[in-house]
Amino acid sequence: MTRPVLIEKVRNIGIIAHIDAGKTTVTERILFYSGRTYKIGEVDEGTAVMDWMAQERERGITITAAATTCEWSEHMINIVDTPGHVDFTVEVERSLRVLDGGIVLFDAVAGVQSQSETVWHQADRYHIPRISFVNKMDRVGADFWRTVGMIRDRLVARPLPIQIPLGVEEKHLGVIDLVKEVAWLFPADKDEEPVEVPLPERYGEDRDGWPEEFMAGLLKADAVTPGAGELIISSLGEARIRREELVEAVAELDDQVLISYLEGRHISDAELRKAVRRATLANVVTPVLCGSAMRNRGIQPLLDAVIDYLPAPVDVPPIKGVHPKTGETIQRQAADDEPFAALAFKIVADPYVGRLAYFRVYSGKVSQGSLVYNSTHDGRERIGRLLRMHAQRREDIQETYAGTVVAAVGLKKTVTGDTLCDKSHPIVLEAIKFPEPVISIAIEPRTKDDQDRMSETLGRLSEEDPTFRTRYDSETGQTIISGMGELHLEIIVDRMMKEYRVEANVGKPEVAYKEAITRPAKVEGRFIRQTGGHGQYGVVELEVAPRERGAGFQFVDKIIGAAIPREFISPVEQGVKEALETGVLANYPVVDVEVTLVDGSYHPVDSSELAFRMAGSMAVRQALSRAKPILLEPIMEIEVATPEQFFGDVLGDVNARRGHVTMVDQRGHMRLIRALVPLAETFGYATGLRSLTQGRATYTMEFDHYEEVPSSVAEVLLGRVRGYVRR
Ligand code: GDP
Repeated sequence: MTRPVLIEKVRNIGIIAHIDAGKTTVTERILFYSGRTYKIGEVDEGTAVMDWMAQERERGITITAAATTCEWSEHMINIVDTPGHVDFTVEVERSLRVLDGGIVLFDAVAGVQSQSETVWHQADRYHIPRISFVNKMDRVGADFWRTVGMIRDRLVARPLPIQIPLGVEEKHLGVIDLVKEVAWLFPADKDEEPVEVPLPERYGEDRDGWPEEFMAGLLKADAVTPGAGELIISSLGEARIRREELVEAVAELDDQVLISYLEGRHISDAELRKAVRRATLANVVTPVLCGSAMRNRGIQPLLDAVIDYLPAPVDVPPIKGVHPKTGETIQRQAADDEPFAALAFKIVADPYVGRLAYFRVYSGKVSQGSLVYNSTHDGRERIGRLLRMHAQRREDIQETYAGTVVAAVGLKKTVTGDTLCDKSHPIVLEAIKFPEPVISIAIEPRTKDDQDRMSETLGRLSEEDPTFRTRYDSETGQTIISGMGELHLEIIVDRMMKEYRVEANVGKPEVAYKEAITRPAKVEGRFIRQTGGHGQYGVVELEVAPRERGAGFQFVDKIIGAAIPREFISPVEQGVKEALETGVLANYPVVDVEVTLVDGSYHPVDSSELAFRMAGSMAVRQALSRAKPILLEPIMEIEVATPEQFFGDVLGDVNARRGHVTMVDQRGHMRLIRALVPLAETFGYATGLRSLTQGRATYTMEFDHYEEVPSSVAEVLLGRVRGYVRR
């Protein structure tokens, strides 16, 4: 077997965007023009091919990251779907992990929105080269240059416009490609080929006549869309200036272009393209393109740009990992003759083929039916089928190679973040980090039959999504599910009911509060039992101290000499950890605390691991009560875009929800409000906002940080938890 496509001709990309910027529509059009789908699905009608899960169709948002393969000018493009809703930034993060490059979409009216900022910085962290696409150029209020300015100012990036729009709003007909120096005109009918008009030499200068060739191009453009020829001519002056700016910007970054520039030579298409590619791959610039996905404008040049400017797997640094036994760092080149190494990044319960594991092959190759080694869990697994997913079909493949993204059937134990590799050349790739859930809901099955199916379904869903957890509370007999936001859990419950037909009663969402301390305290914990024969003896002296928010737990052992024998230290730590799971205020987990073991004593006969574990636990509980404990609550960042007339109401509502406004801005005829609001006050926000604004405002919400609950609120809360109100 040989590879179907050379590794240099593979692109693994993601399309990243704020919700509603048009990700689904752009993906759709890409799949259409790359020839794999034959009918354009409209998001509004809910038939988009990537949104294949039922409730994604209903809600019109894309949640799961599935990978789809398409082809464009003899290249293979794997699109790893990234979710559009902020409750799922972790999904974005995990897909970023396996991507080589990205297309970042912006709405030409809204410009850079809060979620684009979050995702942009995530992509920075993973050093992912990006091209930017300013979508919706047809909308009233669209402004390409304002968006470019925002990319520069708000994202602190270096935008490199390589196109200018040919007309805006109603008159947006196409783009001028500044690198190739051609005008692209896109007919309204998506089935018709775009018209490409090469610009003549010395365009943009005042002159009496144009060369015949150019005139013929203009006539052709006019025949497709009356007035297009005129629009092209009137854009030439700007195109000329913008190309000069582009060349100057590139010359600053690239010596080869600089030399040509200083010599006064015309910089050729190929020369400029190569230089822009180098700068993009080095993550120094982001080429900016534009168009209107909904009107089928600008998609083919976008695909060209993916090939021209985004990296192949060999253009990114080799992947690193560690040897599972020795811990030694290992590096793997993206080459077929290296040992096999892959990262599982998504597990999906597929209704047709069963458990599907998506993975990215970093090095080597693997074939159908082969045994692979899961180095994360030290187990062997057999790959049943290997599947390449296209927009509307699955293709069974025999073998897959370095640099590809595929799905496998038959991996039973592999979960998200696991490394699969060659047993004789083991490596563990860096795992994906997932945040802790901030919200939970109790659910109860309606019947006995539902009970069994519910636990099975929830288990499966949490396997697919590591930010979703499920546990059984034996005290209340309820199942508690937790996740990253109200919508996140709503969608999971929805899937459970619709896809798996489990009937259940769903409780009210509960905030995942935490506890912390505000001052240090020192106590002695004694666990001594003398009951005739063999007794129990463990005495420890502990110090607790607050740590910075988000710093987590730390255990410090300061025992000098033999006050406590070594073998009892780790039981003390274990006891401390157990005690921190339920705080002294209201049984919430205690975070951001440092516990230092300073002294203790033991008994040569009666001391045991158990005694020291108990002593550690008791000491910490006492220390916490003396360390002025406080309650922490998750704070969400909300960004609302509302028409001017509802601005006051939306602002008032944010304030009523204990919100703290951090930014107010004007974007076209929309007002933008950004605020930090306690999660506890955000329940039902979607419905509330809809009724306040007649459904005309949109918002995004995302977990930001934990913060102390104000004392007045904490009083009420603690009263409720303890069943009485303190005076
Ligand atoms: P996503 O949330 O990022 O996946 O965005 P969608 O693709 O679902 O698009 C959100 C909305 O914007 C839908 O109503 C689309 O029809 C609309 N839309 C997408 N692209 C364009 C465009 O180029 N122009 C205009 N005017 N609307 C668009």
